[in-house]
Amino acid sequence: AVHGINTTTTGGMPLVNRWNGRPYSQRYYDILEKRKTLPVWHQKEEFLKALKDNQTLILVGETGSGKTTQIPQFVLEAVDVESADRRKKFMVGCTQPRRVAAMSVSRRVAEEMDVTIGEEVDGMLLREAMTDPLLERYKVIILDEAHERTLATDVLFGLLKEVLKNRPDLKLVVMSATLEAEKFQGYFFGAPLMKVPGRLHPVEIFYTQEPERDYLEAAIRTVVQIHMCEPPGDILVFLTGEEEIEDACRKITKEVANMGDQVGPVKVVPLYSTLPPAMQQKIFEPAPSPTTEGGPAGRKIVISTNIAETSLTIDGIVYVIDPGFAKQKVYNPRVRVESLLVSPISKASAHQRSGRAGRTQPGKCFRLYTERSFNNDLQPQTYPEILRSNLANTVLTLKKLGIDDLVHFDFMDPPAPETLMRALEVLNYLGALDDEGNLTKLGEIMSEFPLDPQMGKMLVVSSEFNCSNEILSISAMLSVPNCFVRPREAQKAADEAKARFGHIDGDHLTLLNVYHAYKQNNEDQSWCYENFVNHRALKSADNVRQQLARIMARFNLKLCSTDFNSRDYYINIRKAMLAGYFMQVAHLERTGHYLTVKDNQVVHLHPSNCLDHKPEWVIYNEYVLTSRNFIRTVTDVRGEWIVDIAPHYYDLENFPQCEAKRVLEKLYKKREKDKEESRNRR
Ligand code: ADP
Ligand code: MG
Repeated sequence: AVHGINTTTTGGMPLVNRWNGRPYSQRYYDILEKRKTLPVWHQKEEFLKALKDNQTLILVGETGSGKTTQIPQFVLEAVDVESADRRKKFMVGCTQPRRVAAMSVSRRVAEEMDVTIGEEVDGMLLREAMTDPLLERYKVIILDEAHERTLATDVLFGLLKEVLKNRPDLKLVVMSATLEAEKFQGYFFGAPLMKVPGRLHPVEIFYTQEPERDYLEAAIRTVVQIHMCEPPGDILVFLTGEEEIEDACRKITKEVANMGDQVGPVKVVPLYSTLPPAMQQKIFEPAPSPTTEGGPAGRKIVISTNIAETSLTIDGIVYVIDPGFAKQKVYNPRVRVESLLVSPISKASAHQRSGRAGRTQPGKCFRLYTERSFNNDLQPQTYPEILRSNLANTVLTLKKLGIDDLVHFDFMDPPAPETLMRALEVLNYLGALDDEGNLTKLGEIMSEFPLDPQMGKMLVVSSEFNCSNEILSISAMLSVPNCFVRPREAQKAADEAKARFGHIDGDHLTLLNVYHAYKQNNEDQSWCYENFVNHRALKSADNVRQQLARIMARFNLKLCSTDFNSRDYYINIRKAMLAGYFMQVAHLERTGHYLTVKDNQVVHLHPSNCLDHKPEWVIYNEYVLTSRNFIRTVTDVRGEWIVDIAPHYYDLENFPQCEAKRVLEKLYKKREKDKEESRNRR
């Protein structure tokens, strides 16, 4: 995501904010004092000189040294002073790999600049490059958190390298928290490296004697122990995802409450990406004051995903608890399965995490694994995401950006050839690329949707199946977090509520029912509450739907529906879904389990499904890797539709021997016979 800073000015009078012409507020001066203590502040001149003399600059500094909040402002001032043509608007772009961080940072920077924050549109620099290939709106681009090596960051690296060659006036600042910077330097034409000295206090590291069997339980136990026995100071706990974090928050609050007055009060704050912005802001609130005067001190306890590792800095953290895990993407190109798996972090991550304890005073980090395990089991660095991802969407974007020769594209770490081949193959099957690998008309349109290519295809063809309104709603629902709420204390009632929306032919149709019911009930929040539906998720689905509908309109894709009373209403929807997801089909074997088609992986219907039967063929939205492999969000489709809609993929000459193949053979024969008969009748 990107936030731009509009730099037109009214010219500067002292004490007047040059960005809006208003007098500065007291808050501005208060924050300014704090800003002046940040390590980067002391290197402002040095930084600006280096930026002036070089097209690309690499800036490395410990987390919390002020890179993200200060550098964009330094750059902005410099660009503003320099730009000869005052009427022309120049943007300074600063990218964040995570949405939460982009929003939090833009809010903070607006506050520091004493200006009102602009509209919070979710920008993507990569998407902007599609319409503005040379990124001409920008004078300076700052790629922040480069060490995270997310998929988008890596693609932007390669892209910006090209853009810089064609735009000598554009400048690039690459910012990173760790010292892999030499690698960045080598990649960016030997760009100069500027280091911001950290000001980290010592952090004492503790390991467990024995491996922990249940890290969640161990983390909670450690929090309680710290709160009982350690001097004041806030606690930061790293967990892997929303559910786990909410669970931990509940348990910690309860355990501390049970301890009564002998311990201080706590404020337990969750932090994860799908949390609403107002809740995210809570991490910056101070710890609670003692309940009684002179009583034990209060403590803030932040339970966070990886996001607090480097993206967001919380002051006042003295204790860090690191169970050693994070949810990480993995991709297996052989069976085309991408999944988020809870896996061990790297040594570099563990180091970053412990560093969070020493921001304001000496701290302690409790690693819930053995020292031996740290030394022997953790890999040195986290693998770049580009090496662990399905690249279909990325390849489509690159093709749209005019990069045809992917094999020679200048990736910092080139993805495996097999992964690239898989991506090209998928796009070819979807009709987005022709047999020469060139973008087709369909591919052009698909690339405009910020969706995975299968969903893009489903949307683009949905008008032909006379159900684009419904497919829009389903796509929107699939794009937001799970909308069903299932509180521990009301599981039965929640399940009953969900069953009322249930459609016996599939979970996609159930999601459609939920969306329709939400709209029919005027998007009412209490209706959502009573029906165990997450209002926030639905609201955000509605938002996504509008965005997608605008893209549909731009390409004159008709918005239409089959008559609800027609027998074809749901059939058309299911066919349109198959037209996008024909590569995610599983077949029910006589043995009673499902096999994914062509890849022949044994999978099970996820227990959350709404079906009242076990269909012979299903499409699925997601492949969940656990000890058992599940397919989640499934809908019944018919074999006849498969041979009609996707014969090019279900080409039997290219098909492994299996039960599904024999069934398909029969279906093809029957189709031939039917055609013959209808020809004879004519
Ligand atoms: P870096 O990018 O080098 O890690 P940042 O610029 O993010 O550092 O942070 C600099 C300082 O600004 C930190 O002390 C951090 O706590 C503070 N800060 C950043 N965002 C906020 C916010 N939303 N509210 C209060 N303080 C913040
Ligand atoms: Mg930062």
